Amino acid sequence: MKIFNTMTKKKEEFIPLEEGKVKMYVCGPTVYNFIHIGNARPMIVFDTVRRYFEYKGYDVNYVSNFTDVDDKIIKKAIEEGVTADEISKRYIAECKKDMDGMNIKPATKNPLATEEICGMVDMIQTLIDKGFAYEKNGTVYYSTRKFKDYGKLSHKNLDDLRSGERSLLVSGEDEKEDPLDFVLWKPKKEGEPAWESPWSEGRPGWHIECSEMSKKYLGEQIDIHAGGEDLVFPHHENEIAQSEAANGKEFAKYWMHNAFLNIDNRKMSKSLGNFRTVREISEQYDLQVLRFFMLSAHYRSPLNFSADLMEASKNGLERIVNAADNLKFLMGNAKAEAITDAEAENFAKTEEFVAGFEKAMDDDFNTADAVAAIFDLVKYINTTTDAESSKEYLQKLFDLLVKLTGVLGLIVDKKEEILDEDIEKLIEERQAARKAKDFARADAIRDELLEKGIILKDTREGVQWKRA
Ligand SMILES: [Zn+2]
Repeated sequence: MKIFNTMTKKKEEFIPLEEGKVKMYVCGPTVYNFIHIGNARPMIVFDTVRRYFEYKGYDVNYVSNFTDVDDKIIKKAIEEGVTADEISKRYIAECKKDMDGMNIKPATKNPLATEEICGMVDMIQTLIDKGFAYEKNGTVYYSTRKFKDYGKLSHKNLDDLRSGERSLLVSGEDEKEDPLDFVLWKPKKEGEPAWESPWSEGRPGWHIECSEMSKKYLGEQIDIHAGGEDLVFPHHENEIAQSEAANGKEFAKYWMHNAFLNIDNRKMSKSLGNFRTVREISEQYDLQVLRFFMLSAHYRSPLNFSADLMEASKNGLERIVNAADNLKFLMGNAKAEAITDAEAENFAKTEEFVAGFEKAMDDDFNTADAVAAIFDLVKYINTTTDAESSKEYLQKLFDLLVKLTGVLGLIVDKKEEILDEDIEKLIEERQAARKAKDFARADAIRDELLEKGIILKDTREGVQWKRA
């Protein structure tokens, strides 16, 4: 299995730190608004990376943070006349809804920056003690010149950066000893959320959040650190400087970055008015279509979002879902149960598609080629099944299709949506059937509900139900 490592700019064989385990950290969004489709790309891409590791038998510890204290959050809170906490809580909840729609598996842990301040203060203190950081008037800066490897991830020429940055020096940070030094802790301004620290009442800089949360939940060394390519510099460069200086160890073995996303061939920006949130997309499309669209390109290739491409993705996904629906229909009407020798031979041939799928995914998660392998399988399914097929053969094909599409996080086995009131109605009908001793009907209703993911429990107080 090969991964392109931004650090070495090469595809490298994946060797885990600990056998059978993957420790993975993905930088999460700053929660001050609905997430946009630029945020959605790393979520979908790295969720797919995780799913493929799991398919391969790895136990994945997947940590992704929410940055819930930030200038943008504070600005929004002031605009609305509410607390910063209210803004971040609201948009974390909204973000989770969108993630659910895109079928992003919940992370092992979603740490919140505001709940980890103590650890950040400790880490900053360690950096000061080790001579990598200094304090001026309540602000703590990281001294980039002290870290000899600074710039190793972004492969930037630091002298060019320093001369470029000098003219860009933001007012208020002119006490920095070097233009590339960055803030670890800053004192609060009036009305801002703040925490106690040895230097001032204030809050941490953005970069230290990830260094601390990654260490706390995954340890000092991790396998994969990932995010959008816009994070390479300065965010990830600064995370490396902090973590490696504080822990005295290599931080992450593999650095993965997804390429950017354009809209109608232009950069997405508020000023161009082409800013698209995931929520807006969900009003027009099932978010499965967005997921399929994102995975139809390689994650390191720039991706262009357009109405035409979304329509093409919708049609592509439909072809796969239709094949699955057709298999379900044939299974429901199949006359023969057991697989025939000819069918068993046919099924053996599907190994070719599985091999194609795995070869693509093993090659730095080439989801575009993996999708192509799934289309080949769909074609094969459509040409080797009909009303005469045995139930067992159909089931095997169905399971295989669900398994491979599941690695990409695509749901092809759609459970029909059922409303609460319809469930209640069916439960009443079942109770009536039982009273009339029509147990066949009662069991049929129970099975029908189970098919739709509704589990019934008979208790002394009556029937209780829950969604699976
Ligand atoms: Zn981060």
